[in-house]
Amino acid sequence: MIVPFSVNDFLHRALAVYGERIGVVDEPDQPAPGLGDLTYTDVGRHARAMAAKHDALGLGVGDRVAFVSHNSARLLTAFFGVCGYGRVLVPVNFRLSVDEVRYIVEHSGSSVVYVDPELKDALSDLPAEHVFVLGEDDDLYDFDAEPRAWEPDEEATATINYTSGTTARPKGVQITHRNIWTNATTFGLHTQASDRDVYLHTLPMFHANGWGWPFVATGVGAQHIVLRKVDGTEILRRIEEYGVTVMCAAPAVVASVLDAAPEWREKHGSIPGAARVRIIVAGAPPPTKTVARVEEELGWEFIQIYGLTETSPLLTVNRTRAEWDDLSAEERAGKLTRAGQPALGCTISIGEEGEVLARSNTCLTGYWEQPEETEASLRDGWFHTGDGGTVGDDGYLTIADRKKDVIITGGENVSSIEVEDAIFSHPDVAEVAVIGVPDEKWGETIKALVVKAEGSDLTEQELIDHVKSKVARYKAPSSVEFRDVLDRTATGKLQKFKLRAPYWEGRERQVN
Ligand code: ATP
Repeated sequence: MIVPFSVNDFLHRALAVYGERIGVVDEPDQPAPGLGDLTYTDVGRHARAMAAKHDALGLGVGDRVAFVSHNSARLLTAFFGVCGYGRVLVPVNFRLSVDEVRYIVEHSGSSVVYVDPELKDALSDLPAEHVFVLGEDDDLYDFDAEPRAWEPDEEATATINYTSGTTARPKGVQITHRNIWTNATTFGLHTQASDRDVYLHTLPMFHANGWGWPFVATGVGAQHIVLRKVDGTEILRRIEEYGVTVMCAAPAVVASVLDAAPEWREKHGSIPGAARVRIIVAGAPPPTKTVARVEEELGWEFIQIYGLTETSPLLTVNRTRAEWDDLSAEERAGKLTRAGQPALGCTISIGEEGEVLARSNTCLTGYWEQPEETEASLRDGWFHTGDGGTVGDDGYLTIADRKKDVIITGGENVSSIEVEDAIFSHPDVAEVAVIGVPDEKWGETIKALVVKAEGSDLTEQELIDHVKSKVARYKAPSSVEFRDVLDRTATGKLQKFKLRAPYWEGRERQVN
């Protein structure tokens, strides 16, 4: 007998075992009024009522429903109310331009779109049959009707997540129920998720399905704490208030917590969650300095994973506890700053030109209506990540750089990540991005865009000398530009193609 996996399995278990537990604490100050505290029974009720509403609107299996919103209990329940009834959820980044949102709604063919009230004017004429404003259109749910059940099919697409699209239009990553199941169960296993956990949604749920934690936390009956504003002090406040035990974050978010920590300590005496909180980091390479400070200054457990939207996202994880206690501090640090070993069911290989290749049930089935892109990334039985990497003797994967961010200067390949790490080790550096800029003689030279720590009078030459003392001289930047801020995505990532663009106007950049 084969029982197909589906997102419903996660909710069913929560309903059967933890029905009366407060499963979700919503934000009171959403742009849309929050739903308050929801038991898992309430989550189930909302999911059913949303599905009944979609039935009434005439939506069938496979139809797309888009959500353009901040984190909220409504979006969380939609993972079950939409996907659990055979429809496809398209979670959209609320920070995208109107043009980009229109493109995604149109390209995905979404017939229903939910938007936050604060976006309703900007998004008033989206190309969809039904556009609902969250919290304002009160016919969002139908609590009286019983929705049509769906016969689960694990190969069916559950969500389409659009990647930010570096060169062309965004690509719609199709994630199936099996992908979600594999990601959530292995992620939970590798991070010891349990019903004692209180999960803080520091990640936007629209991004790679909040790395799967809407499902992980529900499946084990943990509590979800919805967070809208990602800010170091706010995060510390929630950790204290709700006894948070686990969260996922990009390195930039970790940095914002570290920045907020001294003031918090001064006011409250200690950092909440010491020896309790596990912080799971991915999305970009965490700088060595950040990794060391998490354990030293916050007392939290640092776990690094690696993956992409295309891989649901889990591919590797870097914490294997049994070996951990026997390591020296240096060995520990060496492992913590790397992406880790393949997760259960995943195989990693290094392909041509050092590209990381993966095989796993977390890998996408394809890009929505983009067969050429699908063929290019799913070749010869492997998913091609576009990241460069190496695997050490201990089986740990190190991400060297995205292929397109590697700088080729005078014929030498330089990892922008390695240079950033060397720059960031200077105490006066608050943020850094390293890019390649055009150069007549060398093809490209290395440029560092740097935000200094407050009050610092660090000079360009001092910083270049510092880097030369850390890495080979040819990896040192030829120029440093000090900036007040570095623009980041909603998930706290730097988009180097955007930072590079002004320097490359009218020129073609060679990529490996
Ligand atoms: P787009 O692909 O459209 O540019 P994006 O970068 O936000 O958007 P994601 O799928 O979220 O898309 O990002 C995946 C990328 O993040 C990986 O390809 C890798 O470059 C980087 N990344 C993720 N985890 C790690 C990690 N632990 N260490 C280093 N890099 C990481």
